[in-house]
Amino acid sequence: MTSPLKYPQPPVELAGAVEAYLYDCTPADGCGVCAALVRELEEAKAAKKWGAAYDAAAEVRNHPHAKRASAGDSGMARRLGARPERVE
Ligand SMILES: [Zn+2]
Repeated sequence: MTSPLKYPQPPVELAGAVEAYLYDCTPADGCGVCAALVRELEEAKAAKKWGAAYDAAAEVRNHPHAKRASAGDSGMARRLGARPERVE
C-alpha cells in the first residue's frame, strides 16, 4: 500500500532549462538586425519585461539569413523570406 504525501514539498528547480528555452538565441555574425534584437532582449530582461524578452529572442531565432541558407538547401532562402528580384 502506498502512502502519498499530504503536505507541500519545495518547488522543483529546472536549473535554467525554461529560461534557456525561452530566451536563448544565437545572433548571426555581422547582422545589424540581430544585434539590435539582442540589445532589445537584454533591455527587456533587465526591465523584467518577459513577454518582450521572449519576442526579441524568438525574432533572433527566426531571422532569415541568405548566407546561411545558401550553404545548404538553395530553396531554403526563398522559403525563409529572401525573395528573389523579379525582372519585368
Ligand atoms: Zn539577423
